[in-house]
This record gives sequence, structure tokens and C-alpha cells, in this order.
Amino acid sequence: MSKTCNIAVLKGDGIGPEVTGAAVNVLEAVQDTSNLKLRFLYGEAGYHCIAEHGTNLPEETIALLKRTDACLKGPMTTPETPGAPVSAAVKIRKMFSLYANVRPCRSFPNVEALKPNIDLVVVRENTEGMYSGVEYEVAPGVGVALRIITKEASLRVVEFAFKLAAKRKKHLTYVHKGNILRITDGIFKDAVKTVAPKYPDVAIDDVHIDAMAMHLIKKPETYDVIVTTNLFGDVISDEAAQVTGSLGLAAGANIGDAYGMFEPVHGSAPKYTGMNRVNPAATIMAAQMMMDYLGEKKAAAKIEKAVMKVLSEGEVRTADLGGSSTTSEMSDAIASKVKSL
Ligand code: NAD
Repeated sequence: MSKTCNIAVLKGDGIGPEVTGAAVNVLEAVQDTSNLKLRFLYGEAGYHCIAEHGTNLPEETIALLKRTDACLKGPMTTPETPGAPVSAAVKIRKMFSLYANVRPCRSFPNVEALKPNIDLVVVRENTEGMYSGVEYEVAPGVGVALRIITKEASLRVVEFAFKLAAKRKKHLTYVHKGNILRITDGIFKDAVKTVAPKYPDVAIDDVHIDAMAMHLIKKPETYDVIVTTNLFGDVISDEAAQVTGSLGLAAGANIGDAYGMFEPVHGSAPKYTGMNRVNPAATIMAAQMMMDYLGEKKAAAKIEKAVMKVLSEGEVRTADLGGSSTTSEMSDAIASKVKSL
């Protein structure tokens, strides 16, 4: 008898409810065809709760997250006015110390990509850097944001990236701008040099962030695991996702020592809210990563195989992939593929 996994589901804003609903539909299909036991516990978070709760992450939701094994999170709209609540995702990452943001990017069958053989993972530091949220207007028209980089946070994310590279193609690239940000990126580079001797089989190279933006277009197939600081990682993982076909296919995991939160890389795409039009595959692949994290390897493999089959058959395709299928048609196609495996 397998244990019950308690999953917090935060539907989020904009297209969030549609894509998380699509992922739960697929998880239920896995559950129906195996002895996997999932309990979905829904919580409120995101822009839509600010009016009612005065916050985008109510206390009850934090308590809910603490009672669960992992969280499936939909994208959330983040207000940009100074003084508005900090992004709920950023708060959860910091609160639960989810220090490694893992974003796999690979070529998918039947999906137009810049190269057919891309298979890389961006590991982004997730708790500090430009997302520290320390920003001041020091004088009218003069703003300062603090890019906090610590040895401790750099070491733990670098260690995570080395472990991942050791399990994959044994190639780690660290990305920085150490020629300009000598102190902060100096600390990050030192962390790589400190951890490297523990992984003698992993080949290491380093690339400046601006060059990396170019290399990801020119030769993305040459990379395996890329580790970098928070903002650099956010930007290059979106770029890498588009290089492999669509933001609608890119999933991300936020992993700490005791908890994991899984979400699509994309945002809440407000203009498509309620249109049943966007691609749910990114959130479905986030659910796949969550199953893997929870040790449910067979469930994870089933979801991955089902997504690949639906993409390679090419009959059900959302607009971002050049088709006209709806979000729910894509979800149902993947769910029924899960059942037939
Ligand atoms: P976005 O990712 O929401 O949308 C950019 C464009 O990407 C969309 O207009 C659409 O063309 C495409 N796209 C996104 N998701 C897609 C999908 N599933 N299928 C097909 N196409 C898709 O980025 P944005 O417009 O910069 O941000 C909108 C809001 O989302 C903002 O408030 C932002 O702060 C927030 N956001 C949240 C998260 C998160 O919750 N983790 C991440 C990024 C952005």
C-alpha cells in the first residue's frame, strides 16, 4: 500500500486556475491507474486575494503549505507598484528556503526548436541576489536595489548543481558577470571553486551572462547544467525555454532540504484568462517533477511519456505550438494517454 502524498494546490491568477486544473486532471489519471494516493488541498494565494485578505499569501495558506509534502503552484500576477505585496512565489521560496530553482529545457518531439538536440537544466539561486527585495529611493529620481550574494546560499545551490550534473552529462557551466560585479560574483565563483574538488568527474566552465544569452541561441546543445545567481537564472531560463519551442512547455521546481514547490516557468498571461487557449503542458510537467521529487518515479515516468506521445503524435496542439486545441483538450489527451500506458 503506497503512502498518501498531501499536495497543496495554489491555483494562482490569470490562466493559473486553467493550467493547475489541467495538471490535477492528469495527476488524477495517474492515480486512477496505479496505487498512487494523492490528497489535493487547495489554498488561496496571489493577486486576487489581496482585496479580501490584504496579502497575497494569507496565514491559512502558509499553515496549509506546512501540512503538505509539496506544492503545485499556478502562476500569479505580481503588482509592480512600490509598496505592493512582494511576489507570493518569492515569499514562499524564502520562507521554506527553497534555494534551488531547477528549470529543465530540452527539445520536444514535433515542436519547432532552434536545435533538435537541446537538453540542459538551469539551476538558479532562488533566495537572494536581485530578488532580495531590498530597494530604496535614496533621493527623488535615484533608486538603489541591493544584490545580496552570500557564501552560504551560493555554496548550497552550487552543491545542488554539481550533484545534478554528476547524475547527468557531467558538465557544469557557471554563469556570472565577475568582470563587473567583482565582489558579489566573486563570492559565487569562489563557491564553485570550493565545491568542485568533491566532483572530479564533472567538467566545469564559466561564461559571462551576456555571452551566455548569445550562446543559448548559437549553441544551446553544448550545455548540460548551468548554475547562476537569481536574476541571471530567471532571464536565461526564459530564453532557453523559448529556444526549445515555447514557454508553454517549460516547468520549474523550487527545491529546499525539506519542501518543494512546482510551477510553470511562465506567468499568469492575463490576456488569455478564461479563454481555454494556453498550453497546460508546462504545469503538467511541473506536476511530473513533483512526482519525481516525492519519490513516485513510476508516476513521473508515466506523465513524461504521455506528454511526449501527445506532442509527437501532433494531433492535439495548442495555439503556441501552431495548433487550435484548447487547454482542456490538451490536458484530456495527456490524461487519456496516461491511462493507456
Ligand atoms: P507571462 O509568462 O505571463 O506571459 C508572456 C507571454 O508568454 C504571454 O503573453 C503568452 O504569449 C506566452 N505564454 C505564457 N504562458 C503560456 C502558456 N501556458 N501557453 C502559451 N503561451 C504562454 O509573462 P508576463 O506577461 O511578463 O507576466 C504576466 C504576470 O505574470 C505578471 O504579473 C508577472 O509578474 C507574473 N509572473 C508570475 C510568475 C510566477 O508566478 N512564477 C512568473 C512570471 C511572471
